[in-house]
Amino acid sequence: MNMITNHLPTAELQALDAAHHMHPFTDAPGLARKGARVITRGKGVWLTDSEGHQIIDGMAGLWCVNIGYGRKELAEVAARQMEELAYYNTFFQTTHVPAIALAAKIAELAPGDLNHVFFAGSGSEANDTNIRLVRRYWDVKGQPQKRVIISRKNGYHGSTMGGGSLGGMAPIHAHGGMIDGIVHIDQPYWWGEGEDMTEEAFGLARAKQLEDKILELGVENVAAFIGEPIQGAGGVIVPPSTYWPEIQRICDTYGILLIADEVITGFGRTGNWFGSQTFGIRPHIMTIAKGLSSGYQPIGGSIICDEVARVIGEGGEFFHGYTYSGHPVAAAVALENLRILQEEHIVDHVRNVAHPYLKERWDALTDHPLVGEAKLVGLMGSIALTPDKAKRAKFAESSNVGYRTRERCFANNLIMRAVGDRMIIAPPLVITTAEIDILIERAKKSLDESYASLKAEGLFVPA
Ligand SMILES: *Cc1c(COP(=O)(O)O)cnc(C)c1O
Repeated sequence: MNMITNHLPTAELQALDAAHHMHPFTDAPGLARKGARVITRGKGVWLTDSEGHQIIDGMAGLWCVNIGYGRKELAEVAARQMEELAYYNTFFQTTHVPAIALAAKIAELAPGDLNHVFFAGSGSEANDTNIRLVRRYWDVKGQPQKRVIISRKNGYHGSTMGGGSLGGMAPIHAHGGMIDGIVHIDQPYWWGEGEDMTEEAFGLARAKQLEDKILELGVENVAAFIGEPIQGAGGVIVPPSTYWPEIQRICDTYGILLIADEVITGFGRTGNWFGSQTFGIRPHIMTIAKGLSSGYQPIGGSIICDEVARVIGEGGEFFHGYTYSGHPVAAAVALENLRILQEEHIVDHVRNVAHPYLKERWDALTDHPLVGEAKLVGLMGSIALTPDKAKRAKFAESSNVGYRTRERCFANNLIMRAVGDRMIIAPPLVITTAEIDILIERAKKSLDESYASLKAEGLFVPA
């Protein structure tokens, strides 16, 4: 098996992949018929596949490769750490330097009194930790019945049982069910669900659902609210400006814990270190993963405020942890990633250079006949595809407009993902203005081709 290299013919790699590798979130027979694209190398914002195509990665892998591919420093740190101490656990009153240093660094970067880090191997695991943390918090405070967590439909918080239940995606719930004590309110998605309300009024109305839900359940039963500052996997849904201030007010008024899932929005994505800073959110707990290590190693965690950490501590032992919590190699690599983000002023680059340059060109995509609205916060953007902009109309599902457009992007060597009728991007944060030009040029070409094919097939009509 160790003879399987990049040099095998693509078809052979695809056949072995289809025979033995079960992919996440994939229709296996469909993929087997088509053959998976084999990615072989990465450098900066560029990927190479087994056929030698040079692809611009508009998704930073899966929203994670914030510093771009191919940074040698991270490889060197990993090698050094493996030689020095490849693994040790943090369970039995022991610790190690990478976990100490990374926790201290995260506490320094995180706003307010978010000073304590519980490590996990991924974002999903971290959200599972959060479920247990908030329930344990109220338990220690003598209110064990306060255990319901309120979340949003079409939110994404991972795909373990806990993360998948927190998320509000029905297809995920349908495969394996949900854990108890999690309820969902509607999402702040104005373009798709706002009807004839203004964005501002709609944002308030959707936030108000949190208050209604708390009152319906009884505040004595509600532990926490969780939300992504911007819904990522749900389609890069940027809430109306009125939404988060009202959510914050409601959490404050009723004294429930607020969890900001910053797995995508953390570590520079929105032009600040954390999305909570961009939206003025003051969470008790933040979920982190993805950009924490720029995807070079699997690592996630929860950043916890002083009060929650203190109460958990008062309760004595917290029966929870992962073999790889604070894994030394992953922690050392994450620390090096944060050093690069900080010393190379990459968050400033997002805010002052890349965002303004991309924003102008991204917004101009609304001139295209297929594009209704364009949203961009930092380097996280989406466009809505519509057959009728004025009515914010949807295509019939059979038009497969998002998938169709994504396929055109792929053919044009651009990775841009589709979520329903929305196309989304989240490129590496180091993207240059010249690379933004290429991204936009390929996006326009793909939109043109998608539009032409819809027209030709008579599908450019509202559902
Ligand atoms: C990706 C993601 C997760 C899950 O992270 P994994 O590392 O895939 O488990 C959780 N929350 C949000 C907001 C995400 O985007």
